[in-house]
Amino acid sequence: MTASRIVLIVLDGIGDRPHPALRGATPLSAARTPVLDRLAREGITGIMDTIGPGIRPGSDTSHLALLGYPPRECYTGRGPLEAEGSGIRMRPGMVGFRANYATLDADGRVVDRRAGRIHGTEPLSKAIEEAVDLSRFGVRFQFVSGAGHRAALALEGEGLGDGVGSNDPKKEGAFPHEFEPLTGTEADAKTAAVLNEFVHQARQVLADHPVNRRRAGEGLLPANEVLIRGAGRMGEFQPFRERYGLAGAVVSAATLITGIGKVVGLDPIHVEGATGSIDSNIEGKVAAAIEALETHSFVLLNIKGADEAGHDGKAEQKRDFIVRVDAALAPFLDVTETVIAVMGDHSTPCTVKDHSADPVPVLVHGEGVRPDRVDRYDEFACAEGGLCRITGCDILPILLDLIDKAHKYGA
Ligand code: ZN
Ligand code: ZN
Repeated sequence: MTASRIVLIVLDGIGDRPHPALRGATPLSAARTPVLDRLAREGITGIMDTIGPGIRPGSDTSHLALLGYPPRECYTGRGPLEAEGSGIRMRPGMVGFRANYATLDADGRVVDRRAGRIHGTEPLSKAIEEAVDLSRFGVRFQFVSGAGHRAALALEGEGLGDGVGSNDPKKEGAFPHEFEPLTGTEADAKTAAVLNEFVHQARQVLADHPVNRRRAGEGLLPANEVLIRGAGRMGEFQPFRERYGLAGAVVSAATLITGIGKVVGLDPIHVEGATGSIDSNIEGKVAAAIEALETHSFVLLNIKGADEAGHDGKAEQKRDFIVRVDAALAPFLDVTETVIAVMGDHSTPCTVKDHSADPVPVLVHGEGVRPDRVDRYDEFACAEGGLCRITGCDILPILLDLIDKAHKYGA
């Protein structure tokens, strides 16, 4: 019988390079992963350049590719995707940004780019939304809190550009920058002026806000500044259901990935205790993904922690997290009528502490796949697999074919 559903499991930043602390193994190849190994043994494997050989992917561009939306045509910057993931309904033409609450000292220098790791900033964002007025520019805006110190901003109005810099000096002890247009266009100049006015007014709202007065009383750093970056214009995305004929859902703790899912029309599924870090409720996410398969024929499940450990350069921590992930994935072994695909979105080598262009291991498991001889899911074994070396945009067509949803090319 042919499978009728697809689950795409993205182990964020799983790929790595040989590490001295692991005697030349990668965190994945050093980890005991019986579940992933069984899927690899019964399935077909390969390695994948999510964008292309030698290209270091962001999580945003790689996820677009894995969903079959070529990033070179579709990607317009991180801001609008973060904004969507934060709960703002982005319409084509709106300009979106990522934002941070931060702390300025009495001289106006940034003393903490995360405002003492503040959380629960909703009252601050609400106050900004109510008090800041950009109507003299003919601009409406939404400003919403995200997790922790994070927030998102979206601007809507005539003649706005997305070629603007950031006010974030990226280091403590420096003054915030003014926003500058990156081109000579009137539209970019207007957006820069709007952002400068926004930050100016937001400061006045924050300076005297009860939340900050209370924090001062408790000896905590106030959130008295908004740092903004990642400008991008919201693009147009053909809905996933229309593109592939599948109802889809996304399970992710990262607002960026949730945002990508939402812009292409995947239903976001919230999981309690999912943090996007190594302490995340992975079991809960797996259960939510399996439950979503009852009502959706496509589910994207993103599990983030390995990327974080890679950015921190902690090879043993990354290995141990992968062991936990493997155990948490066990319930998928009992899921039927489903093609299971497991892959990274990019490598995050602990020796690099950032994303690299090293291809990621991929496995595809389910009815109809032609098993290869690979019996282990890691960077070395999968390089010998039957899928050989594919790109991110190849994976969804391969999976669609396995569930009989691929269109015939020609007669
Ligand atoms: Zn990633
Ligand atoms: Zn990363």
